[in-house]
Amino acid sequence: MSTTHPAGDRPGARPTVRTAALRAALDEAAAILGADRTVLADPAGEGLGPLGPNTSLFRSRRIAALLRPATAEQARAIVKLFGRDPDSGSLHAVSTGRNWGLGSAEPATDDTVVLHLGDLDRIRDLDTEAGWAVVEPGVTQGRLSQRLAGTERLVNVTVSAAETSVLGNALDRGVGLRGQRTEELVGLEVVLPDGELVRVGWWPTSGRRAPVYPHGLGPDPLRLFVQSNLGVVTAGVIRLAPRPEALRVVRLTFPRAVLGAAVDTIRRFVAQGLTRGVPRIYDPAAGRGYAGPEGEFLVHLPVDGTPEAVRALVGILADEARRAELFSEIAEADADEADEPVRSVARLVERGYAGDPDVTDTLFRVKMGVEADEVDARAGFVFFLPLLPFTGEAVVRADALLSEVSAEAGVRTSATLHLLGPDLIDCVVALKFPRDPESARRAHHALDLLHTSFHEAGFAPYRLDVAHTDRRDLLAADPAALALTRRLKAALDPNHAIAPGRYR
Ligand SMILES: Cc1cc2nc3c(=O)[nH]c(=O)nc-3n(C[C@H](O)[C@H](O)[C@H](O)COP(=O)(O)OP(=O)(O)OC[C@H]3O[C@@H](n4cnc5c(N)ncnc54)[C@H](O)[C@@H]3O)c2cc1C
Repeated sequence: MSTTHPAGDRPGARPTVRTAALRAALDEAAAILGADRTVLADPAGEGLGPLGPNTSLFRSRRIAALLRPATAEQARAIVKLFGRDPDSGSLHAVSTGRNWGLGSAEPATDDTVVLHLGDLDRIRDLDTEAGWAVVEPGVTQGRLSQRLAGTERLVNVTVSAAETSVLGNALDRGVGLRGQRTEELVGLEVVLPDGELVRVGWWPTSGRRAPVYPHGLGPDPLRLFVQSNLGVVTAGVIRLAPRPEALRVVRLTFPRAVLGAAVDTIRRFVAQGLTRGVPRIYDPAAGRGYAGPEGEFLVHLPVDGTPEAVRALVGILADEARRAELFSEIAEADADEADEPVRSVARLVERGYAGDPDVTDTLFRVKMGVEADEVDARAGFVFFLPLLPFTGEAVVRADALLSEVSAEAGVRTSATLHLLGPDLIDCVVALKFPRDPESARRAHHALDLLHTSFHEAGFAPYRLDVAHTDRRDLLAADPAALALTRRLKAALDPNHAIAPGRYR
């Protein structure tokens, strides 16, 4: 299968360049990990390479090897190897590598060594009373949530597959149903490029008396390692929210004609605390994956707390929605009272908001058309993730831009709005395409157009795909801040142990 190359993503000349220093580092890596955990690429550069295809059909990067340490200690030894010599090449770390739509496990640049941390999969420690878990990169949201079943704590799950990494998603600033994952990162164990291991943020102390407080005293280095190439994360402390006693999701629908007014009305619900977590608005295309009615926008407003508070808030939301005279349907009933197919979907959605990912990936399969394990080989999928101000006007503008791009590129988009608070929307634009070169070319062209047109409208993405890393400097707020991160990189990683990522 050939791939297309969006702007800024031209392939370098093959084959893989293997310096003596790189060969030496890979030999030593094989001695540390064992041959079965050290997959070398074909030096002639033929075929897809050890990573295989990616669902976005982005160009497969030229990688020298795929290394899969079994322990954090091994991962640390590998980083140290690559930090020794500027000619030994650079590492690109992934947790489970399921960054679907943004490049999957692909590095941003050619000639890197991929460090796959999926086999570091221990839940090292857990305190459901105090509300934290120490997890390694290979711990998936499915596993952590199953471990928390029946406890008073939950994990904030995304609507991606159950087998995606809690830590990998948080390190890319992913978004769960209850909030931004990155805000739940309270501590990180990081291997610096010279092999030193540091623990930043909050870590459990002996006796476990210290309450979780991620900021520490003085400057807080934790955020330096998020969307970052300053270190490799081998574990993290994740904050676990209390499990609500009751939870309900109020469902509304409305036609496109009232989009601006409906968004402004929903903003009032969010600002006044009538709904919690991450309420979502699906455009008609995205709503189809959630049994939304044909041609209508669908809204999920989660409400949780004590049973009495939930009953009261559901009633208040439904009354407010009726008074707004904008919504075609207002479903305040318990999921169990709805008719099929709405009932099954509503149950899964409520469970997701309550911290249980759909462990059988039912909704995921409906959206992707394939099993999670087959996404990279069989589905065609890209993401565009701009932030919008939470106003009806901005959402109407974004909706119009999507229609223009769809028409110009000849693709179908779907958009889900994650309402991240009273002032911020994470606008998740998905483009699914048949897996043939012409459809991939059109999807990539649409992605280029989205980057340009949303930028011109003032809506910048907060996560980048591997084909658009050239936009990171353009999107930086202040050149001096960019220069500061470069100075930090030069100071911490003079030998380029860690490859430039999608962000730096
Ligand atoms: C249908 C569908 C629904 C989705 N829903 C959501 C959603 O609700 N929310 C959401 O956020 N995403 C969603 N996604 C996108 C994606 O699947 C998830 O974000 C997924 O969690 C990312 O893959 P991962 O967990 O394997 O992380 P990885 O791919 O392992 O990591 C992501 C990135 O973080 C960095 N990184 C990872 N591990 C380390 C480390 N140990 N040290 C240093 N840097 C590291 C790397 O840059 C890496 O590329 C969805 C995708 C699909 C197809």
